[in-house]
Amino acid sequence: MAVQGAVRSTRDIRRAVVTGGAGFLGSHLCEQLLDRGVEVVCLDNFLTGSPQNVLHLMEHPGFRLVRCDVTDYVHVPGPVDLVLHFASPASPLDYLKMPIETLKVGSLGTLHTLGLAKEKGARYLLASTSEVYGDPLQHPQREDYWGNVNPVGPRGVYDEAKRFSEALTTAYRTSQGIDTAIVRIFNTYGPRMRADDGRAIPAFVGQALSGRPLTVAGDGSQTRSICYVDDTVRGILALAFSSATGPMNIGNPDELSMLELARWIVRLTGSESEVGFIDLPVDDPKVRRPDTALAAEVLGWHPSVPSEEGLRRTVAWFAAQRDAAAQAG
Ligand code: NAD
Repeated sequence: MAVQGAVRSTRDIRRAVVTGGAGFLGSHLCEQLLDRGVEVVCLDNFLTGSPQNVLHLMEHPGFRLVRCDVTDYVHVPGPVDLVLHFASPASPLDYLKMPIETLKVGSLGTLHTLGLAKEKGARYLLASTSEVYGDPLQHPQREDYWGNVNPVGPRGVYDEAKRFSEALTTAYRTSQGIDTAIVRIFNTYGPRMRADDGRAIPAFVGQALSGRPLTVAGDGSQTRSICYVDDTVRGILALAFSSATGPMNIGNPDELSMLELARWIVRLTGSESEVGFIDLPVDDPKVRRPDTALAAEVLGWHPSVPSEEGLRRTVAWFAAQRDAAAQAG
């Protein structure tokens, strides 16, 4: 069944560098790598992430956290078998506030981390995004779709940074022989998202838990496909440990409208919040759903956490955070 990706054994990968490792996805990746016996060097400048996300790993003998801006330089002493480049603001609120930082980490950050992979002879995995498909004219989105992105629209800073980083990664593969892979991640949610990062799920959960109206953009008919973090991270690591190149979609094809999502969260929190409507952001994609046939064929990967269960776990985590903050304050 696995054609492109004869699976590597974990013995091939003893030490990994995770950029953006103190962020939402990066912290789960660090944790999962350590669980598999891989040493981890986490590089982060805490622009949108926090040491708090990896505090529970600090005592682990295989874990090192280094404060570093990967757009300046990247230097890691010792052997490295795998570089996972996850540093980048990722929520619209963050990248609209930090457009230059976003373009720099997608361009210079990718250049520097590819240089590290080249120096160490390491495998390289780039975290790309479903946003490379823009406001898609093909549905669901397959990896061979080129996308519909407005380079001078507000979201262009993120979408084009990722498109450039894909091109750069491909050039290092074809012209320098670096062992690279590109993962196109679709909307992922779960514990350790920032409550105030502006993404729909933490925003709706926070509003529902505090009894405020939920702010649904537009008429709420636009769709997203949401994947629970454990499934996304399992897919990313399956790709990292394989020899497949991608680009490869990782996401849950379970598509739902923003209005459905809001109503679901109200129900799961037992909240009495109303659902309200706000303006639709400029260039907001109308639909989003991954075609995951490639990941299924090459990696045997399928998401396994149903959205209702994933949302239940996420709501429980945010409620526990709120209770802990209330007790501390
Ligand atoms: P996040 O904001 O939680 O994590 C990003 C991390 O990168 C943060 O810890 C931040 O401090 C760090 N960072 C940013 N610029 C840096 C720099 N110049 N040097 C060093 N560190 C830097 O975001 P996330 O949701 O965990 O996303 C991680 C990656 O996955 C991003 O590349 C994002 O584009 C990609 N992605 C995420 C999703 C998703 O649904 N979460 C979807 C598609 C793609």
